[in-house]
Amino acid sequence: MLSVTEASARVRARVPRLPTEPVSIWAARGRILAAPWRAGRPLPPWTNSAMDGFACRAADLPGELPVVGEVPAGHPRVEPVPPGAAVRIMTGAPLPPGADTIVMFEDARADGDRVVLPAAKLGDHVRRAGEDVAVGDVVVAAGARLDAAALALIAALGGAEVEVGRAPRVAILSTGDELVDVATPPGPGQIVDSSAHALAAMCRDAGAAPTYLGRVGDELAATTAALTAALGYDAVITTGGVSAGDHDHVRTALDGAGVELAFWKVAMKPGKPLAFGVRGATPVFGLPGNPVSTVIAFELFVRPALLAMQGAAEVDRPRAPVVLPAGYRKPAGRAHFLRARLDRDGERLVARLHPRQGSAMMSSMIGCHALVEIPADAEAVAPGATVAAILLEAR
Ligand code: AMP
Ligand code: MG
Repeated sequence: MLSVTEASARVRARVPRLPTEPVSIWAARGRILAAPWRAGRPLPPWTNSAMDGFACRAADLPGELPVVGEVPAGHPRVEPVPPGAAVRIMTGAPLPPGADTIVMFEDARADGDRVVLPAAKLGDHVRRAGEDVAVGDVVVAAGARLDAAALALIAALGGAEVEVGRAPRVAILSTGDELVDVATPPGPGQIVDSSAHALAAMCRDAGAAPTYLGRVGDELAATTAALTAALGYDAVITTGGVSAGDHDHVRTALDGAGVELAFWKVAMKPGKPLAFGVRGATPVFGLPGNPVSTVIAFELFVRPALLAMQGAAEVDRPRAPVVLPAGYRKPAGRAHFLRARLDRDGERLVARLHPRQGSAMMSSMIGCHALVEIPADAEAVAPGATVAAILLEAR
C-alpha cells in the first residue's frame, strides 16, 4: 500500500498554483502573500518618545529644569526645546527639536513649573526613526501566511490592500443514503452530515472558500453527476463511499467523471480508504466517511494542497518530539495517527492519548493538540519512548 509520504508527494506534484488577487487588508487574515512586502517608509516614521516623561538634553542632567511645554501624541512641537529646559512628552509623540533624551515621569520630581531630573544616558527612551524597519526592508516574505503580526506590520506601512493567492473555491460533496442536513431531525437509520461542517471549517482555516454542494445518495449515476458538476470548482472534496462496501461508488464515479486517479488507499490509520485524482487542473479528494478519518485525511493531504494552491512557502504543520508514557503496540503495515493532548514536563512535551481512538469517535478530536505519528513499520513503542507528533492549532 502507498505510504503517507509517497501519497503526499503525489498530491503535491499534481496541485496547480492559482492566480493571485488583491484583497482588503481587513479580509486578508490567513491568506498567502503573493510578493515580498517591502517597506516604502521607515518604522517608526519619525523619532519619538518611548515613555510618558520629560524631553530634554542629556548634557543638562542631572538638574532642575523649567518645564516649557507639553507634546501629546499626534501633536508635533516645531519650536525647539531651549538648552537648560524640558517639555512634558507622551509616549509616541515626536521628539521635539533640541531634545535628545527622555526621562520618564517615574524618575522625575515635578514641582510647579519646574522639574528635578536625574542623570540619564544620551538617547534614553528615544525611539529612532527607522530602528524597527528601514525603507526597502522586506517585512513579510512572499508565500507567508498573513497572521496578526504580518497584518499589523503591513498596515503600519500603509498597505490597505494586499495581493494574495486566490482563495481556492472548494466544493464539498457528502455521500451516503443515511445522511441528513443538520436542521433535519434524523429518522430511523439516519445521521446528520456532520463532516461537511468539519470540512468547511478546515477549508476556511486553510484560507480556502468552501461551498457545500449537499448530499448525494449511494447511487452511481447520481454520484457521477454530482461529481461532474463539482468539477467547476478549484478543488473537490467528497466524503464517504470510497471504501470497498457494496454501496461505495465514489471510485467508479471518479472514473465516470473523467478524473484521473493518482492513488486509492494509503497505509495509514485512520483514513486508509482515500482516493485522489485530477481532472485537468482540478484536484479531487475522495475522503473516507468516518468523521475522524475525514479530518485526519484532510490534515495530511488536503490542507497542504490548498495552501500550495495559494503559493504558501510552508504547507506542513510543525512537528515536535513527544514522550509517549504509555507506549503503543500495533501491527506493522500502516502509520497510525493518534489523537493526543500535550502536557509540558520541564523541557519535554508529554503526549496523553485520548482513550477512544476509534475512527468514528469525533469526541477524540475535542481538545486534541497533536496527532502522534507511529511509523508504518513500527510494531511496538516502548513506554516512555520519544515519537514524532504533528502539532495542530490549539482547538
Ligand atoms: P462510508 O465510508 O461511506 O462507508 O462511511 C463510513 C462511516 O462514516 C459510516 O458510519 C457513515 O455513516 C459515516 N459517515 C459518512 N459520511 C459522513 C458524514 N458526512 N458525516 C458523518 N458521518 C459520516
Ligand atoms: Mg457511505
